[in-house]
Amino acid sequence: MILIKPLKAIVLGAPGAGKGTVLSKINKYFDNQIITISTGDLLRQHINQELSSEIASLISSGKLVPDKLILDMLLNKMKELNLRNDQSWIIDGFPRTLNQAKLLDQNLELNSAIQLDVPFEVILSRIENRYIHKPSGRIYNLLYNPPKILGKDDVTGEPLSKRPDDTVEVFQKRLHLYSNMISPLKAFYSEKGMLDVISGETSDIVSEKLIERLSSKYGVTK
Ligand code: AMP
Repeated sequence: MILIKPLKAIVLGAPGAGKGTVLSKINKYFDNQIITISTGDLLRQHINQELSSEIASLISSGKLVPDKLILDMLLNKMKELNLRNDQSWIIDGFPRTLNQAKLLDQNLELNSAIQLDVPFEVILSRIENRYIHKPSGRIYNLLYNPPKILGKDDVTGEPLSKRPDDTVEVFQKRLHLYSNMISPLKAFYSEKGMLDVISGETSDIVSEKLIERLSSKYGVTK
């Protein structure tokens, strides 16, 4: 399926809400026609070459880097991609503050701000039950896809572990910060009539609803 009218969007979602999974599902549905630009990825790509150690340490401690730096990086990337007017794209990770939303507004014309709304207790339960096989990166969830033998990787039989930041305490803090961040952004986009809130408890449900919303708003053709 292909969107008739191009999507020009930002996506907002809490840490652990499954943004990556949902974006890759919708992109697959729309024949990989939607370009996703993640500001976190952009920063990580530049971390060794162009960014000062001061900026690198902001990123590694999860603090926000200066608005101007991230905006320039984003706009340069979009220029470099040479996007046609009829192309669809989604920006992931920007804006994170009201000031960033205003800066973006001065530089790009959006037609949607998509908010993926997953209940915090669902996110926390996912995190609590998430285990990883470090050498391969295989991820298990004791509720949805448990390993065949408890605590062991299905392929190698090696022990599973938890990521140090995959704890309820860490996520509670991150979710609290996200709640503070999201309110002014939601108000900003809602006032512009651009906010698309997609609620659901699993990535499958959220993806399905988002596909429906995009199809009815922008039209589809085979
Ligand atoms: P992410 O992968 O989106 O969590 O981003 C990783 C890190 O990059 C964040 O913790 C910030 O340090 C930085 N970053 C990404 N996007 C932004 C943004 N819009 N404004 C400021 N810093 C950002």
